[in-house]
Amino acid sequence: MDEKDMGSDLKSVLITKQEIDDKLAELAARIDADYAGRDLLIVGVLKGAVMVMADLARALSHPVKMDWMAVSSYGSGTKSSGVVRILKDLDTDIAGKDVLVVEDIIDSGLTLSWLLTNLGSRGPASIAVCTLLRKPEAAKVAIDVKYVGFDIPNEFVVGYGLDYAEKYRNLPFVGTLAPHVYGG
Ligand code: 5GP
Ligand code: MG
Ligand code: MG
Repeated sequence: MDEKDMGSDLKSVLITKQEIDDKLAELAARIDADYAGRDLLIVGVLKGAVMVMADLARALSHPVKMDWMAVSSYGSGTKSSGVVRILKDLDTDIAGKDVLVVEDIIDSGLTLSWLLTNLGSRGPASIAVCTLLRKPEAAKVAIDVKYVGFDIPNEFVVGYGLDYAEKYRNLPFVGTLAPHVYGG
C-alpha cells in the first residue's frame, strides 16, 4: 500500500489506534463481567468486523468460541441497499447458546436488525450486540445494542476493517475519506 496515495485519500483521522485499544479494553472488561461463568460464542460479521473481533477477543479474559457470518447489504458505494443476503452462514448451531454479535459499524441498522431476527429464530439462550461504531441514523431503529464503542457523526468512515470499494480495511485507525475519492 502506497502511504502517499493513502495520505491524500484521507480527510482526517477520526479515532486513533490508541483510542480504539482503550475502548476495546473497556468493553472487554464489561463483557467479561457480564458473561462470567457462562459459555460465550462471539459471532463476527465479515468482513468489516475482522479487526474488532481479533482485538476484542484478545482483550477478553473470558474463554470464548468464535464464529463468523458474511452478509451483504452494501455494494461498492456508500449507501445502504436495504437488501441483506447471507454469503456465509455460521458453522455453529447456536440453539441454547449465549451469543454476542460483533459489528464494525451500525449505520441505518437494517443489516443488524435483519441479522438479529434471523439468529433469533435459531433459538439461542441470549443474543447481545457489540459494535465499535454507531451512526446517528441507527438511533431510529429499535435495536438494543448493549456494547457501543463510539457514536460517530454521519460521515462515511474507513479503516480498522471498514472499506471503500474493498480498500482501506488495513488502516490501524478509523478515518474519513477525502471527497475526491468517492467523487464528491
Ligand atoms: P446498515 O445496514 O446499518 O446501514 O449498514 C451496515 C453495514 O454498512 C456495515 O456493516 C458496513 O459494511 C456498511 N457501512 C455503513 N456505514 C459505513 C461507513 O461509514 N463506512 C464504511 N466503510 N462502511 C459502512
Ligand atoms: Mg458490519
Ligand atoms: Mg463495505
